[in-house]
Amino acid sequence: MKAAVFYGPPGSWPQKPLKIEDVPVPKIGPKDVLVRIAACGLCHTDLLYMKMGMRPPKEPPLILGHEPSGVVEEVGEEVTNLKKGQKVIVSYTIPCGECDVCRAGRENICISGDVIGATRDGAFAEYLAVPAKVVIPIPDSIPLQDAAIITDAVATPYHAVVNVAQVKPGDTVAVFGASGGLGLNVVQIAKAFGANVIGVARRKWKLEKAKEFGASEIISTMEIEKPELEIRKMTNGGVNIAIDATGSPQAVEMACRSVRNGGKVVVVGYGMQNFAVPFMRFLWYELKVMGSCRYKPSDLFRVVEMVHKGMIKIEGLVSHRFPLEEINKGYEMLDKGEVLRAIAIP
Ligand SMILES: [Zn+2]
Ligand SMILES: [Zn+2]
Repeated sequence: MKAAVFYGPPGSWPQKPLKIEDVPVPKIGPKDVLVRIAACGLCHTDLLYMKMGMRPPKEPPLILGHEPSGVVEEVGEEVTNLKKGQKVIVSYTIPCGECDVCRAGRENICISGDVIGATRDGAFAEYLAVPAKVVIPIPDSIPLQDAAIITDAVATPYHAVVNVAQVKPGDTVAVFGASGGLGLNVVQIAKAFGANVIGVARRKWKLEKAKEFGASEIISTMEIEKPELEIRKMTNGGVNIAIDATGSPQAVEMACRSVRNGGKVVVVGYGMQNFAVPFMRFLWYELKVMGSCRYKPSDLFRVVEMVHKGMIKIEGLVSHRFPLEEINKGYEMLDKGEVLRAIAIP
């Protein structure tokens, strides 16, 4: 089968591009499913390995790609809940289900589980073999290729908003980085759970999209120097919850300065730099600063249902589609911030 392979070393891209080559179709075990990939999302996380020099958990050569949708091609002999021809998406986290963390119901931060496209080969390929327990059927109402982005760009914000921030009707939520692939979904999911949402990002024209996805107010950091002060003014002292979808230390600090007493700050954006929490606010306001990592495979059932019911919209989120052969071009555009969300089609 055709696959896009990262040969490393970490940080060597784009000088050493992902190589399109022919590799064996993966074999499945009795509890596994072979998925014929329809599409797989391009993600900034991959650029951390490819360009920024972060070491992937599995030594290259590694097939990247952790945001797949596809069709069941073959099921292992012990698999009873899926059948050939079914349309599916795949959770990129494969929790072990047995460690103390998994057994406490927090599979997203499993101690020993696998992550596709990181600890094992991923979905920038024609086929992917995964345990059936992380394969989730989707209805015909959801376009199969676009469904790929549910598995990260939608489900990761879902975990941040619902499980970590625990947004409730009537909450006011500020979203930093509200115009990106992750941020737009934080906006629309917080809105779907009854929050009043303020979107913050750099470019005004991009922020218009955040309005489309449910932000009632938008603040451009190019127009307003201290958005945290503006937010405090708009909300009579600060928001209940601030969610950072950028991973940048400046944005996290702004988020800390924009919440009211007893507020929560949730960081779901992925970065490599440490950030500072303003101490006086942390202590006097009893700020809760929380990380939000991935999602639980079981979250996908609810996310799929919400997309099916139109409570979460995915139309308009995929801005670019690349044949697998042009995946390096896709990553170049992603790297320059020229795409909202892109998918590769094998
Ligand atoms: Zn991703
Ligand atoms: Zn575990």
